Amino acid sequence: MTITFFNTKPYDHQFFEEVNQQYGHQLRFLEVPLNASTAPLAQGTEVVCVFVNDVVDAQVLHQLAENGVQLLALRCAGFNNVDLKTAVALNLPVVRVPAYSPYAVAEHTLALILALNRKTHRAYNRVREGNFALNGLMGFDLHGRTVGIIGLGAIGLVTARILKGFGCRVLGYDVQPSAASNELGVEFTNLPNLYAQSDIISLHCPLTPQTYHLINEESINQMKEGMMLINTSRGALIDGRAVIEGLKCEKIKYLGLDVYEEEGDLSFEDMSGKVIQDDVFMRLLSFNNVLVTGHQAFFTADALHNIARITLQNITDFEQGKPLANAVQP
Ligand code: NAD
Repeated sequence: MTITFFNTKPYDHQFFEEVNQQYGHQLRFLEVPLNASTAPLAQGTEVVCVFVNDVVDAQVLHQLAENGVQLLALRCAGFNNVDLKTAVALNLPVVRVPAYSPYAVAEHTLALILALNRKTHRAYNRVREGNFALNGLMGFDLHGRTVGIIGLGAIGLVTARILKGFGCRVLGYDVQPSAASNELGVEFTNLPNLYAQSDIISLHCPLTPQTYHLINEESINQMKEGMMLINTSRGALIDGRAVIEGLKCEKIKYLGLDVYEEEGDLSFEDMSGKVIQDDVFMRLLSFNNVLVTGHQAFFTADALHNIARITLQNITDFEQGKPLANAVQP
């Protein structure tokens, strides 16, 4: 099939071209993101392939359908950027990559926890300047600490398993019961209890209307003094302004973010020569106990290979009229 990829980088070309040798689709890579002004570029293509920050709202979906696009293939797990009801109304199937490497994201979550705890980001700079003083670098043993995981799906479970290996007590909350988490020894609980008892809270639920700004002034008030908050899921799970207040009063003593609510204009781009206009984001960066990475948790060679393989298989299944195992339902 002819596939137009929006929002691509050189690493997308590399992995998709390599894996496509087994599939034989016709690939066309565009650097521009998908939105209402770039949607006409999809003309003449059968499949459009997009990533996390592409805008796939009702207007864009109508444009794609009018241009003859037959399938929308997400090369990611989350689908909060797609207006699914409109896609159904237009009879435009949407497929995704539900799991490509929960290890990549879970391991990055641990990288943030460990770096914030032992202040590796600060130690790195100090030592390079010949400063070997330890003042301000003291951490705590992870062993014996309580970690609360919100969302016990693929990534939440791998994160729980790793934390169990550190000797942590792991509390979990999910809207669905999870037999796998019971087997791991995760203590299933409700949100108020998780907030009250956790030294570290890590978010692994999807962004939905129910989880939008889940972490807000009210939930922060219920958390432990001096807690650590980690978000490698979706930025809008957190109300950035409320978190800044939590950092200022030191209720939140450590914040690790791989995602940010307004990351659409920032993530995956080199903004080093530009003035960043987002004052909430810049205030977050001003705290030395805040560590931000630019949506890189998924970014391992293993994950990129799996993303390419599963995306191209989804498209081949569609081409051959097979059931779409990875179809997204509204
Ligand atoms: P998953 O679907 O396997 O698990 C999500 C879990 O969250 C499910 O168990 C679900 O029941 C639960 N959930 C749904 N609504 C909830 C709610 N209101 N409260 C608590 N739990 C709720 O997904 P996954 O593969 O584990 O991925 C989790 C999220 O991680 C994705 O939605 C995506 O947004 C994010 N993600 C981020 C990156 C990255 O690079 N930073 C990469 C992949 C995925």
